[in-house]
Amino acid sequence: MPESPVAQDVDRVPMLQGGRWIVPETDAWGDVMNPSTGKTIAHVPFCSADETNQVVAAAISALPEWSETPAVDRARILFRFHELMVVRFEELSALVTREHGKTLAESRAEVQRGLEMVEFACGVPNLLMGDTLPNIAPSVDAETNRHPVGVCVGITPYNFPCMVPLWMLPVAIACGNTFILKPSEKVPLSAVRLGELLVEAGLPDGVLNVVHGDRTVVDTLIHHPDVAAISFVGSTAVARSIYETGTRQGKRVQAAGGAKNHLIIMPDADLDQSVKALAASAYGCAGQRCMAGSIAVAVGAAGDPLVAGLCEHASDLRVGPTDGAEDIDMGPLIRREHLQRVAGYLDVAGEDGARVALDGRREFAGDGFLIGPSVLDNVEPDMRVAKEEIFGPVLSVVRASDLESALEIGRQCEYGNGASIFTTSGYAAREFKRHFNAGMIGINVGVPAPMAWFPFTGWNQSFFGDLHIQGSESVHFFTRQKMTLTRWFESAQQSHQDPVWKSS
Ligand code: NAD
Repeated sequence: MPESPVAQDVDRVPMLQGGRWIVPETDAWGDVMNPSTGKTIAHVPFCSADETNQVVAAAISALPEWSETPAVDRARILFRFHELMVVRFEELSALVTREHGKTLAESRAEVQRGLEMVEFACGVPNLLMGDTLPNIAPSVDAETNRHPVGVCVGITPYNFPCMVPLWMLPVAIACGNTFILKPSEKVPLSAVRLGELLVEAGLPDGVLNVVHGDRTVVDTLIHHPDVAAISFVGSTAVARSIYETGTRQGKRVQAAGGAKNHLIIMPDADLDQSVKALAASAYGCAGQRCMAGSIAVAVGAAGDPLVAGLCEHASDLRVGPTDGAEDIDMGPLIRREHLQRVAGYLDVAGEDGARVALDGRREFAGDGFLIGPSVLDNVEPDMRVAKEEIFGPVLSVVRASDLESALEIGRQCEYGNGASIFTTSGYAAREFKRHFNAGMIGINVGVPAPMAWFPFTGWNQSFFGDLHIQGSESVHFFTRQKMTLTRWFESAQQSHQDPVWKSS
């Protein structure tokens, strides 16, 4: 098995431009860290506007040939990419753990979700099929076809280094677009590795390009006149700004933002099952998931046993460095500053009148960015810990008298990604499903994140745009439709009256 040419041992992370891996000439470099050890493992360039424009030029020049490549041939390259990902599954998972810090089990689940996006995109010959209606008017046939939109850009967050790039690029290129990926500067290695595998799979030069950096790169990309569409995933403030800037210039934008996800526990729910599901939802990936349960709404008598069960369960979780370790339940946060920010919310909770039922702050051996799981009780919906995205292993418990009060708490939330109910009542589940103010609903499911074939339907401030990521909506986002009416004349003497608009 050949060794990876760049991603594993690279010190200076290269960019991919027109099929060539280049170390940019910029003087500005940032640290890629291993959060388990607190050590720098590579350096990432902050590319200049000029370097970014060169990447866009590469994507532009690859577009005519790629967009004319038959969908079946585009799909075949993705099938080969899928095979390479399967062969490299453990290597990719270990790389995600190394640069992000999540457990190996979590990284494997992430890579698996990414693989499923490739599987979905491999069906592109079917996904691109249009509609036809012969004889829609006398001797006139109507049809629709899907065309690529052009040069597309993906800007991704740190919390899913492998999966979120795969939310975008396989579908975008399968549909005949060329693509520029700007991964999070905190976790660029997984994105580079995916790029290497796509090149190995036979993707023509310039169809996928990878550029690194921060705001300068993003601003250059979203203002570039030849960029047609932008797919963004990250925090709400940046998502909103990219959506507004991009759409103002006539670009297509889908921008997924932050979240504050509610988990409702009814008094009739199975307590043991609910505690396990809530803990997995709130503390999985150390709470750094846009679908992480953040607020447990305990209805009626569910409150006291739930808080006791959560504290007991969370205390038993094994917290530690994940790199190379299989026996850890929860890994570190991404950076020390983020750890301090999350820890600060435990003080904020106390100041605002909540009770810290389980405090995750403690000493850990080594220099990893570690904090244990926390449970906050007696949280009110208007407290900062209930309103702001903490993005760490902190679960706030809000008490509600009945289901209607729990639904009302949801209505007050500015976000709207996921929400789940735990109950044995079909009636309560149905009321919740129909009326809770969020776009992805779970019934006795802790993390209601859809698989590749269904759209990732965030609502409110969790999503800006019209067409979501994943599923058929993603195919619609990366294509534009053309409708054709066709009429053939039998002879030159035929009437030229328009058969569609003719008067009777
Ligand atoms: P972030 O917004 O800080 O960064 C996301 C991307 O935007 C990165 O590539 C970054 O370089 C770039 N960026 C950051 N600031 C920018 C600016 N001012 N102008 C232009 N570009 C900028 O997000 P993050 O901290 O990397 O990721 C965590 C966030 O992502 C959380 O809020 C989480 O909820 C959200 N997220 C949402 C979803 C979803 O589907 N809704 C999925 C994953 C993560």
